[in-house]
Amino acid sequence: MSVVLNGKEIAASIIENIKKQTEKLQEKPTLAIILVGHNEASRIYVRNKCSAAQKAGLQAELLEFEENVSAKTLKEKIQSLNLDSHIHGIIIQLPLPAHLPTQELLETVDPLKDVDGFHPLNAGLLQNNNPAAFAPATARGVMTLLRETGVELEGKNALVIGRSQIVGKPVAQMLLNKNCTVTIAHSKTQNLPALVQNADIVVAACGRPKMVKASWLKKGAIVMDVGINRVENKLTGDVDFEPAKEVASFITPVPGGVGPMTVAMLLQNTLEAYLKQKNS
Ligand code: NDP
Repeated sequence: MSVVLNGKEIAASIIENIKKQTEKLQEKPTLAIILVGHNEASRIYVRNKCSAAQKAGLQAELLEFEENVSAKTLKEKIQSLNLDSHIHGIIIQLPLPAHLPTQELLETVDPLKDVDGFHPLNAGLLQNNNPAAFAPATARGVMTLLRETGVELEGKNALVIGRSQIVGKPVAQMLLNKNCTVTIAHSKTQNLPALVQNADIVVAACGRPKMVKASWLKKGAIVMDVGINRVENKLTGDVDFEPAKEVASFITPVPGGVGPMTVAMLLQNTLEAYLKQKNS
């Protein structure tokens, strides 16, 4: 029987802590959120980010664009936000409509305001284990939850299932930076159950509902479930949670695990961006 890590509670205490810090500042750190089109899930995520920002004593400025907005218009907006000294963090809510060059737009964000950590400069700093890097919020959320377990990470076998730019790769890099022995699995990986069986830490970020079975897990493994899948109108993770919690030592639920941590870490990155800009 495992400890179920309460991401909602841990995120609330991080937000409370950010609030204590922002109360002492003369100015509210401000996060600009670029939202394009009418993707329902994106709208819900953005709403959550705005209301959490308010709780943390930060300001969120929502910039909405029509589905058919041009890359040029967005690029010019990002460039003006880069120069605006009242804006401390900039995020582009993904996914963008297919006609837009996502990578090019992410690379337009000033790395010092890149609180999603998607700019290649921040990815490179993370790879160098440089503390100046903004780490992507979900990856930082996973690492914070791992720290909450109190388990020493050094030397552990960690398996990350998924290799996306926004979750899998940065989590794998951060685990490596903590001296884990890291394996990255993806859609072409063979014999995933055997890799899971060997892992002390499993981070599931593949977007496949309940794919990771309890019978694959090593007894006492730490299981971080990043997946958010809507199945029959219910949110489900990438891990078969109920049986897995009988085998794992620590496990995150969906919802209420990594999801709320992602929002809290975005706000933490925004506060840190503000402090860096003020101190530079
Ligand atoms: P992507 O679709 O970008 O990446 C999925 C990754 O999983 C890919 O690397 C893919 O491999 C791999 N994969 C797919 N199928 C399998 C399989 N059968 N076995 C092993 N690996 C597989 O998704 P994201 O990284 O953006 O998100 C992953 C999940 O996390 C989603 O459910 C998403 O909703 C959720 N999410 C949750 C967040 C949170 O705050 N909790 C934040 C962001 C995402 P390949 O590269 O070969 O295609």
